[in-house]
Amino acid sequence: MKGPLENAMDRAEEVTAWERSQNDVYREHSPADPMFIRVLAGEVKLLRKAIEMYRAHIPESLCLHCSGYGRRPYGSTATWRGGIGGQAVTDDVCDKCWGTGDADRHGVNLRAMESEFRRLREVEARMKGLEK
Ligand SMILES: [Zn+2]
Repeated sequence: MKGPLENAMDRAEEVTAWERSQNDVYREHSPADPMFIRVLAGEVKLLRKAIEMYRAHIPESLCLHCSGYGRRPYGSTATWRGGIGGQAVTDDVCDKCWGTGDADRHGVNLRAMESEFRRLREVEARMKGLEK
């Protein structure tokens, strides 16, 4: 009588033999390499997992300006800054949701922040002028 280890070895041999016969079937009837099919099946599994993880992060109210990506194409290289820019469609942070992709929860308004920096730099320059 065979022990559990021997039974497991027999089972493994059966599975290997079955896999070998399946590989032969694929070789005869499909131009695709069975290894390639296995790799693709693995990729499908990974993609399904990635979609699952992605869905967990999709905001409830998608920003309609960037479709929830948080980035969108602009008509010039100036992007959300506006003003003078090169004539090339350029991707940058969405100026409606400011990068979150969520219509209800916006990120930091970069335009307002840049404007505030400019104002503070002017104040700093004026104060330096007074020191002299
Ligand atoms: Zn957006």
